[in-house]
Amino acid sequence: MPPGARQPADADPIVGIDLGTTNSLVAFCRPEGGGTPEILPDSAGRSLVPSVVRYGVGGTPEAVGAAARELAVEFPERTLHSVKRLMGRSRADAERTGDLAYLPYRVVEGPNRTARIELPPAGEGVGGRVLSPQEVSAVVLRALREQASAALGVPVRRAVVTVPAYFDDAQRQATRDAGRLAGLEVVRIVNEPTAAALAYGIGLGRRREETIAVFDLGGGTFDVSILRVTPRDAAAGGGGAADTDFFQVLATAGDTHLGGDDVDRLLVGLFASEISAQAGRELSFPPATRQALRRLAEQAKIRLSEQETASVRIDTGGGAAYERTVTRGEFERLIGPWADRALECCSRALRDARLKPGEVDRVVMVGGSTRIPLVRRRVGELFGAEPYTALNPDEVVALGAAVQGAILQGRLGDMLLLDVIPLSLGIETVGGAVAKIIMKNSTVPTQASEMFSTSVDGQTSIKLQVLQGEREMAADCRSLGTFHLAGIPPMPAGIPQVEVRFLIDANGVLNVSAFERRSGKRAALQVVPNHGLTREEVERIEAEALAHARDDMTRHRVADLVANAKLDAKWISDRLAKVGPKLELAYFVDLSRRVEELRALTARAEADWRSVDPNAFHRMKEDLDRASVRMHEVSIAESLREG
Ligand code: AMP
Repeated sequence: MPPGARQPADADPIVGIDLGTTNSLVAFCRPEGGGTPEILPDSAGRSLVPSVVRYGVGGTPEAVGAAARELAVEFPERTLHSVKRLMGRSRADAERTGDLAYLPYRVVEGPNRTARIELPPAGEGVGGRVLSPQEVSAVVLRALREQASAALGVPVRRAVVTVPAYFDDAQRQATRDAGRLAGLEVVRIVNEPTAAALAYGIGLGRRREETIAVFDLGGGTFDVSILRVTPRDAAAGGGGAADTDFFQVLATAGDTHLGGDDVDRLLVGLFASEISAQAGRELSFPPATRQALRRLAEQAKIRLSEQETASVRIDTGGGAAYERTVTRGEFERLIGPWADRALECCSRALRDARLKPGEVDRVVMVGGSTRIPLVRRRVGELFGAEPYTALNPDEVVALGAAVQGAILQGRLGDMLLLDVIPLSLGIETVGGAVAKIIMKNSTVPTQASEMFSTSVDGQTSIKLQVLQGEREMAADCRSLGTFHLAGIPPMPAGIPQVEVRFLIDANGVLNVSAFERRSGKRAALQVVPNHGLTREEVERIEAEALAHARDDMTRHRVADLVANAKLDAKWISDRLAKVGPKLELAYFVDLSRRVEELRALTARAEADWRSVDPNAFHRMKEDLDRASVRMHEVSIAESLREG
């Protein structure tokens, strides 16, 4: 092959791997995906591979991932998890930081004082095998490599692998070696916070220097990093090719033993003490019971991220049970001090970076525990900015590693620039029509808002479906997500005033919020809308819109007419029922007939929009409106008399 010629990208793909303490993931940017990274799941559709390996009695790997974790309790000394805590470190160092206390297997000192893992003796007089953390990580990496090869249908040999920002040279080198042992060339080691930022397109094609905070709160560890992103051409040395060298870590802080597990423990503590109180004596909970309590606690915690309350019920024997409902407020009071610990780390990192919270432009959320609403709120308050939560917090690091892989393959040059909105964005309205709120080709950042109302009397919740595309009906557009604005007090249809605001920031992240003015209720959704479309796809969507333009317009018009005609018919027949006896009989009969005719036509239009002539439909509705004027006059006169 002549020098400089580009290989077809899929022939030798560079995947992105998040090699985590608890879980690992692999992702890839398909060339046809327009720069959108996607997770490559295993054959069962699971994306997370637990970073767990079980060794057989002979000292060879016997199970990896979910299969190894499932039986971890049965083989604690042979099931190796959290080896990332030992990578490239000396045993003494790992002991000093308290990591060894959390590991159920034996950690011994190897050559150059490195931390090694000793498996239990293989038999009488036969010592246990001693493994390096790199070897164990290699087993996980090999599983990810095989998973990626199967998903892509080609052998995978190259990867970008992420590490925490605070990893030193030895820890980075150990990660590279683990890759080599797994048959992977680690073409780049990337800091996890940098990867998280890349997943949101931060640093791609920007013109302005930005300061980013990445808040990574997982199951067992917490890291916060403050990064400076310098645009390519402004960075010293330039370097030419698109690269990520311009993410500079200004400061990191964290706590290697702070995470969602602590929240589970707090809830277990609450339940355990109340169960004891109910029993009237201090109960001791055997490990299996504690484990069951932990699982219930975690489930309750996860429910409380979505709901205002979570209930648990535990049989306490002899027909008795402990039943408990935890409210969001109570939960937040319980975990407040825990959240404070993470926020104190943020303040420390800001101090180290010599920055005030307001000087941080963007905050990116990573790790499962950032789904907790209190965490999001507190982080938002500290930095004075809505944190980025559109991507799955478990996947964002792997997705960013895949973006880095695509950059290294020279592929992101083809990616759509996020500087303009390639397709219009809007919401679904009643009848399945689309109300476009931001038009295609708007430059980012941009924002727009529109007022909406309810379509049914007493409606207390509104479903908002966010759509992308040029067609007039929701079914023909791409749905970007759905959310609900709930808790609206019951009012007649059309009375609530719901302001729907679309805001797209410089990275193309869309924030949609809905605000009901009378009740003050709010709801919001974040999405990354323009990822996932190649130039060809955008062109195809536009061509389709053009081809269907006339039909689509008619359909949209009929949908709007149906919605309005229903409201009118209801409004008028309600009034008719009230003031009918006060009207001349002929007028009453005529108006009733017109209402029925409009209803019949509306029903026909709803069943098949092509079966009606929208102009005739419109005329019939207008005629009824005009004909009903006198009834309204009588109705008003009546109500004045009553009043
Ligand atoms: P990670 O290490 O990033 O995979 O994060 C795992 C942690 O996130 C565990 O403690 C989970 O219990 C927690 N987690 C996952 N989903 C949720 C959720 N919806 N709400 C609260 N915590 C969650």
